[in-house]
Parts: sequence; C-alpha cells; structure tokens
Amino acid sequence: MRKYEDSYRHKGLRKKLVDLLREKGITDERVLEAINTIPRHYFLDSAFDEKAYEDKAFPIAVGQTISQPYTVAYQSQLLEIRPFDKVLEIGTGSAYQACVLAEIGAQVFTIERQKTLFEQNKQFAHLKKYPKIKFFYGDGFEGLPTYGPFDKVLITAAAPYIPEKLISQLKVGGKMIIPLGEGSVQKMMRLTRNADLTCSEEIFDDFSFVPMLEGKNGQ
Ligand code: SAH
Repeated sequence: MRKYEDSYRHKGLRKKLVDLLREKGITDERVLEAINTIPRHYFLDSAFDEKAYEDKAFPIAVGQTISQPYTVAYQSQLLEIRPFDKVLEIGTGSAYQACVLAEIGAQVFTIERQKTLFEQNKQFAHLKKYPKIKFFYGDGFEGLPTYGPFDKVLITAAAPYIPEKLISQLKVGGKMIIPLGEGSVQKMMRLTRNADLTCSEEIFDDFSFVPMLEGKNGQ
C-alpha cells in the first residue's frame, strides 16, 4: 500500500502554485482555496512527487492525463458553482478535478470510459474524504439520464461535437463547459441551455485535451 504524506514542503509548493494561478488570471477564491487544500501529488504516481505542483499536465494510466492545474482552475471558475449544484463531469481520469468541485460544494457525478482508471479510483484511499462523489464507468456521450437533470456539465476531454444527450440532461438555464474541436487545439466554450434544447454560446481561450472517445474501454 502506498503511504501518503502531505509535508510542509508539499504545502509550500501548493501555495506557490496558487499564487501562479492567481497571476495567470484565476480570480475565484473558492477554486484557489480548493487547489490550496487538495494534495495533488496523491493523484499522481509517486515518481512525480516533486513535480506535482508544477503547472503541467502529467501522465496517469492507459495513456491519459491529469489536467494542468491552470486548466482545472479555468474550467472550475467558468462553471460558477453554487452550493449543492449537481455537476456531471465527463472524464474522471485521476479524480482530481472531481475533488476540486466537491471541495467547492458541488454534488459531483463523474463518468470514466477507461475501466482501468475507474477501478484504480475504487482503491484510491484519499477519495474516502469525498464520500458524496459518485463514480460511474461508462460512455460520457450518453451521460447519466437517470441521475439528471444537472445544473452543470463539465467535459474534461476534447469533444469532437456538442453531445446532444448531455444538453438534454442539463436543466433549463444550466451550463456546460466544453473544450470543442478535433485537432490538437480546442476552444473552451460555455453553453447555456434554453428551454427548447438550443444553447447560447460563449467562447473562451484555446486549450489542448486528450480526445473524448465514443464507447467504453474494458470489460
Ligand atoms: N478530469 C480528469 C482529466 C482526465 S483526462 C482529471 O482531473 O484528472 C480526460 C479523461 O476523459 C480520460 O481519463 C479519458 O479516458 C476520459 N474520457 C475520454 N472520452 C470519454 C468518454 N466518452 N466518456 C467518459 N470519459 C472519457
């Protein structure tokens, strides 16, 4: 069993990371506080212990990544979480983003298509601190029709198109944060659902995510 330790050194590095995110334009204090609280090094292989507080994405299992802290902060800020918001996250990955949202007070439902990552999270002791996060193994394009409607949907992989089923699982007035585009760069978009399934769109900066893929991978 891996032993987790959150040392003064880790805490100091984390504070520096928060200062950097502030300099880069993150202003939502709740997001910054969540990042200051969560030991990101727990979510990475122990080989990355020293690097965990660099503002970089890092590899996790099965060729996937834990998003860059700036990206996590940016998406979390765009979500404008209100206490008890029901949030559907597509792409659990390391579960770091899910924990940030839970720290801010969201009720998090998160889906991962890679069985390996889903199983790893079941064994990940730190997640016991967040008993309300609900983890699902499935295809994010399908969403979670029986658990909706959601106040917010957060997609943490590059979406080739806007998944219509996810729009229909949003409350009217609910918001979806989606990195949209098939190439190496995606546009961060915020969609607000109208009563008739159409959305109003806001366009933000460019980011680079691993692709959102159809179907599940694993038994
Ligand atoms: N939120 C994650 C980021 C992980 S990277 C974190 O904080 O670490 C994106 C993740 O999306 C990968 O784990 C990938 O397997 C997953 N993914 C890609 N397409 C998906 C889909 N259709 N449904 C669910 N998860 C998907």
